[in-house]
Amino acid sequence: MKSICILVPAYNEEKNILPLYVALKKVFVPLEDRYSFEILFVNDGSKDNTIGEIEKLAEKDQCVKYLDFSRNFGKEIATSAGIDNCTADACIMVDADLQHPVELIGEFIAKWEKGFDVVIGVRNKNKSDGWMKIVGSKFFYSIINKIAEIKIVPNATDFRLIDKAVVMEFRRFTEKSRMTRALIDWLGFRRDFIYFDANERLHGTASYSFWKLFCLAINSFVSLSLIPLQIAGYLGIIITLFSGISGAYILLGKYFLHTIFASTFSDSENLAILLLFMVGIILMSIGLLAIYVANIHKEVINRPAYVIRKKR
Ligand code: UDP
Ligand code: MG
Repeated sequence: MKSICILVPAYNEEKNILPLYVALKKVFVPLEDRYSFEILFVNDGSKDNTIGEIEKLAEKDQCVKYLDFSRNFGKEIATSAGIDNCTADACIMVDADLQHPVELIGEFIAKWEKGFDVVIGVRNKNKSDGWMKIVGSKFFYSIINKIAEIKIVPNATDFRLIDKAVVMEFRRFTEKSRMTRALIDWLGFRRDFIYFDANERLHGTASYSFWKLFCLAINSFVSLSLIPLQIAGYLGIIITLFSGISGAYILLGKYFLHTIFASTFSDSENLAILLLFMVGIILMSIGLLAIYVANIHKEVINRPAYVIRKKR
């Protein structure tokens, strides 16, 4: 019998744990003769009683396991911790807030049985999304697909199944700032997609604020592509050429060839234009470099990506 692990990162989800458990159990029933299921919760330093709810279930039900983080490390790290601790033949990642329709788990497994190593849930358009999120995600995907070394399917979610082989490979990543789904995409393997409509969040509020999403987007640009770093260099070359040539033109025209156009620029104007350009470029380059240096720094100091308080 093949084993399947349902991986659930949870942050402040006390009211959602039980409904999710009930929904999952219902999904397991018709599949239970062919597969053994376990539910692996990762409590990501919740401030509410999420861990209490999970412990209650774990006490009653053998198939409920959990990791309890010592503090909040973020969903990406929580998911990674789950993958690190998954021993099943396949791992299915599900949000704790019931936004991912767990009824589709059977379809995920069916695709997996057909030989796909990665089955990705792709969200149909969500009417309740604000315009900022819609525009933001459009912008994000169009840019990242132009500059990144991998192609990312728009609206692909973390609701996905990965085969044990993918799990094993995933563990080899050592970067600490990570976007799980991008890393899984980066791994390749045979992939297929399942389209779904996201439900409304059952209880509580989404903890992914616009700012958090923005940081995640910036982080993925930096970790998936070196082009942002190179842009500063290209701009530097272009602007040095531009300012060098125009500066030379103005100098030559003014003092040697005496052309009228060049003479209309005053000395301070020339200087101001040049300085403004250079200061802008230097600041931009420093800003970009700083992002990369920060990332390198994180890797070099090699802190553990997470600290597990308890394992069951
Ligand atoms: N989550 C987490 N750590 C965090 C934030 C979120 O483990 O720091 C979990 C959360 O409990 C949920 C999933 O990640 O199971 C998705 O989070 P959320 O619903 O807030 O985000 P969205 O639905 O907007 O993607
Ligand atoms: Mg959600």
